[in-house]
Amino acid sequence: MHHDINKNTKPIQFTDFKRGSVWLCGAGPGDPGLITCLCKHALENADYIIYDALVNNDIFSFAHSGVFLEYAGKRGGKPSPKQKDITLRLIELAKQGKRVLRLKGGDPFIFGRGAEEAVALRKAGIPFRIVPGVSAGIGGLAYAGIPLTYRETNQAVTLITGHDATGEMPHAHNWAVLAQTKIPLVFYMAIKHIDNICTTLLENGRSEQETCAVVTNASLPNQAVNITILKNLSQMVKQQNIQPPAIIVMGDNVDMHKILDWFIYS
Ligand code: SAH
Repeated sequence: MHHDINKNTKPIQFTDFKRGSVWLCGAGPGDPGLITCLCKHALENADYIIYDALVNNDIFSFAHSGVFLEYAGKRGGKPSPKQKDITLRLIELAKQGKRVLRLKGGDPFIFGRGAEEAVALRKAGIPFRIVPGVSAGIGGLAYAGIPLTYRETNQAVTLITGHDATGEMPHAHNWAVLAQTKIPLVFYMAIKHIDNICTTLLENGRSEQETCAVVTNASLPNQAVNITILKNLSQMVKQQNIQPPAIIVMGDNVDMHKILDWFIYS
């Protein structure tokens, strides 16, 4: 049925970005087209933008010329600013009555410490809003032609971080359980410990023939997808000198890449 758009559709008014509040927004994996309308709205209205390393700076073109940009990520091997200092800065700016946009790569609540920052804001009594983003382990895989779920291969997925708060391989995971299912495993931040991760999974019975993909710079012009089997995964990462940011995925759903690879950057 045909609808008359002009007659029946109200224009959308996005929530006002109030002075003295913080919006914690996900900027997606890289392609500027993957930011949400709300994130764009926040960019247009922010007084301060505090952004992390994996945020594509091209999206700042949505901001107005008077905006202050502050980088809060790792730079040239130097340690990143302490999480505490970042939250203090957010609180300080909000208390000055600024509209503060805290921009994080992907989704702020997936391995992005967004929740920690939100907790600090809540404790300080600062009003905030969370704007979800497209996470690298979800949208990034779609850009690699890998469906996170596919009816023929899997009815569940597991998102895993490859290192914990201390930088070590996480010990809290029950690796035996992870190894003994066929549920695809999607790893963030796993390049550093890939050797140990593969060995542990194989020792605990994960199939050495399972298809794996390493997706680097997903959704960006230099996106690369390398496919192998679990037995050869860590060797491939080393031989090809694969560098972060990368998502590593293991599972039968990865085979769909053969059919669904679509990404052509233009
Ligand atoms: N909050 C983010 C994850 C932050 S942790 C999200 O939801 O996506 C940082 C890790 O995310 C990187 O080490 C890498 O594993 C992954 N990542 C982020 N952007 C990526 C990209 N464009 N391509 C591949 N991996 C990416």
